[in-house]
Amino acid sequence: MRPLIVIGNWKLNGSLASNESWVKAVCKGMEQGMPAGRMFALCAPFPYLSQCEQLIKECSLAFLSLGAQDVSAHNSGAFTGEVSAAMLKELGCKYVIVGHSERRQMHQETDELVSAKALQALDAGLTPIICVGESADERNSGRETEVVCGQIARQVSVLQDRLADCLIAYEPIWAIGTGKVASAQVAQDMHKAIRLQLAEFNEDVASHVGILYGGSVKPDNAVELFAMPDIDGGLIGGASLNPQDFLAICQA
Ligand code: PEP
Repeated sequence: MRPLIVIGNWKLNGSLASNESWVKAVCKGMEQGMPAGRMFALCAPFPYLSQCEQLIKECSLAFLSLGAQDVSAHNSGAFTGEVSAAMLKELGCKYVIVGHSERRQMHQETDELVSAKALQALDAGLTPIICVGESADERNSGRETEVVCGQIARQVSVLQDRLADCLIAYEPIWAIGTGKVASAQVAQDMHKAIRLQLAEFNEDVASHVGILYGGSVKPDNAVELFAMPDIDGGLIGGASLNPQDFLAICQA
């Protein structure tokens, strides 16, 4: 059985002071009891990873861990500004987001680059969270499944069986930060399409891989989304900035 996983993506937000109160508030809430068998993480900006790792360590909850929001496709060398997977591992990360739509759109990241980043993460012992998702235009023209399954196919062609050690996040671009959440059924249909496509490659991979939903998840829609059979949790942007909202989603 796949565990439910809820991961906060802080994006370009945070400060030393607000991070400290966030982690303390979330730890305090989680210490009061969380549903069994779930896993949680926060993906903080690079400069705050050490601070967050220390704060998470202090509350010593085995089910709360740390992640980063991006990683280099290279392991070392003349790549100014890049951060390697080994560095993230050394800083205590368990997860790293790759191919978020904001990076695909604003930094022209391709599926090839995303799979190279995922491979770096896997080689360093991190779990890559591979983001896929269609734009509003692609959905409005009925091409959403073709687009998303195309993204998945290009990951399968490179990562093969190693996909079993990844997470996939289905994040429709039209739902990210817009308040327009995909209905639970729309999200479930895409998650099922992704799983069926993975099953054509390898049934074991398909049944093991966690597929998270991301896009305007809030405390009031998380219960319905997480109840769907192929939705294994969420990648939470805006709502993860408020510790009480994040806790409510983790409990959903
Ligand atoms: C995200 O950026 O991964 C995301 C899902 O954002 P939001 O929850 O704000 O839509």
